[in-house]
Amino acid sequence: MRTPYIAGNWKMNLAPSEARAYASSLAEAVKAAKPDCRVMIAPSFVSLPGVIEAVKGSGITVAAQNMADHLAGAYTGEVSPEMLKDIGVETVILGHSERRQYYGETDEIINGKVLLALSLKMEVVLCVGETLEEREGGELETVLERQLRVGLKDVQPDEMKAITIAYEPVWAIGTGRTATPEDADAAHRFIRETVAAMYSEDIANNLIIQYGGSVKPSNVRALMEKENIDGALVGGASLKLDDFLPIITFSK
Ligand code: PEP
Repeated sequence: MRTPYIAGNWKMNLAPSEARAYASSLAEAVKAAKPDCRVMIAPSFVSLPGVIEAVKGSGITVAAQNMADHLAGAYTGEVSPEMLKDIGVETVILGHSERRQYYGETDEIINGKVLLALSLKMEVVLCVGETLEEREGGELETVLERQLRVGLKDVQPDEMKAITIAYEPVWAIGTGRTATPEDADAAHRFIRETVAAMYSEDIANNLIIQYGGSVKPSNVRALMEKENIDGALVGGASLKLDDFLPIITFSK
């Protein structure tokens, strides 16, 4: 039985004061609505302490959007996973397509971060997904398989319970274009089969796979009805309570 897991990636939006105020309203709304899913939000680094404080007691997980690939040292501008743990952050999104696209993060770099996060007993949401060019070139499965095999290299079977996969087709992120529930489900099935081949049927069956790419109140239910879609990683529509709350409470 996989518990639905819905996450909001706030990206580089909301100043710390705005993030904190929004997080307080979201926490109140979540306490009142009692959604049937796990809820996570990922504010920017500077907003993390205020947001953690604001959601205390609500059950909302607060995650980082990224982290350094080293624990400490001369890495100007980076934030170490140990620093995140010190302020109470136990979950991190890794390999988001914007990190891959704009900051040159390769599967190998992402794998280093995954292993580092796991060594500190953090939970990871590992993002995978193809570009439009790759999809149209028939490379969907090759790309997903590479991102999974390299991204999860040396991750031990017993560590897989700390891993969530987010399937985010790059062409659907922030574009208003959503994969059809059928296309998304097929990609999720392929991810599950790949993880079964890498680990075991049991690990694959327990793996939470979120869909990300222009999820909104109007399409969340159709996506969540699909057998292999266990949650959502939401960008734009996670920035306002009026949009995010109906997504979290999709089953009500
Ligand atoms: C994302 O950034 O992970 C995302 C899916 O964004 P959006 O929902 O805006 O497409």
